[in-house]
Amino acid sequence: MRHRPIDLHTHSSVSDGTESPAELVAAAVEAGLSVVALTDHDSTAGWAEATRAVAGTGTTLVPGMEMSTRLGMNSVHMLAYLFDPTDAELVAETARLRDSRLHRAERIVERIAADYDVTWDDVLAQSTAGATLGRPHIADALVAKGLAPDRSAAFAGILHWRSGYYEPHEAPSPVDAIRLIRAAGGVPVIAHPATRGRDTNISARSFVQLVEAGLLGVEVDHRENTEAGSARLRELAARHDLITTGSSDYHGTGKPNRLGENSTEPEQLARIVEAATGWSPVAG
Ligand code: AMP
Ligand code: FE
Ligand code: FE
Ligand code: ZN
Repeated sequence: MRHRPIDLHTHSSVSDGTESPAELVAAAVEAGLSVVALTDHDSTAGWAEATRAVAGTGTTLVPGMEMSTRLGMNSVHMLAYLFDPTDAELVAETARLRDSRLHRAERIVERIAADYDVTWDDVLAQSTAGATLGRPHIADALVAKGLAPDRSAAFAGILHWRSGYYEPHEAPSPVDAIRLIRAAGGVPVIAHPATRGRDTNISARSFVQLVEAGLLGVEVDHRENTEAGSARLRELAARHDLITTGSSDYHGTGKPNRLGENSTEPEQLARIVEAATGWSPVAG
């Protein structure tokens, strides 16, 4: 019999997903997941609500986060699982990240507002209080104003990095993020590292540096990894004895990704749980 899917990458309205953590858990139960990880961008603010929500559902929660990092001009996302959410250095770094994202989003909107009828209040109206702000919330404001048909179109147009409105936010290097996550007892797994285009696509040399810094896993099965890229990641993972995962990167209605569309093998999840010293999975 096939296992019920284990999906280790999802977003709630604590960052750029469209469902609250409790709604996300309900969707995970409905989708038949045995395990769901909540991995909001640069925030653990959804852990408590998701923990309460899994009680009695038969679905296990793996609390996590997707940390923003930067390598040169490339945005690199680092998944982190089962770390201590009260670790002072990690708390300080994620607060700095959210703050930098907030001011960067304000500046992007200021530039867009010179050409289009959209305001900062329109963006705030698309996010919950304290959420990790990003281009998805600006996209939703553009959609609400009739300036784009949906998020993806906004990303392909006004929010594209070549549009003239874009700027990156400050972020630690992937090596520094890996060290912070490990120091907090967590398990760093590099997210979708073989996508098409400008983001990520790490060279073999940088990859070795990440492994030396303490990287423990790679997200091999993800809809945005290319087929050739996934094959290469599988090889790199075998060579460095890394954990391999497969996940959806679900964002509610914010992206077409469906819960459980990729799954992680139970043995690989067991390796994550075994390596973690900061937190434990929450059995539902
Ligand atoms: P930011 O971190 O603010 O630069 O925005 C990037 C985030 O937007 C990523 O984490 C994705 O979750 C989301 N995103 C990127 N491309 C798209 C897209 N085409 N449609 C919807 N969301 C997207
Ligand atoms: Fe996202
Ligand atoms: Fe990501
Ligand atoms: Zn993600």
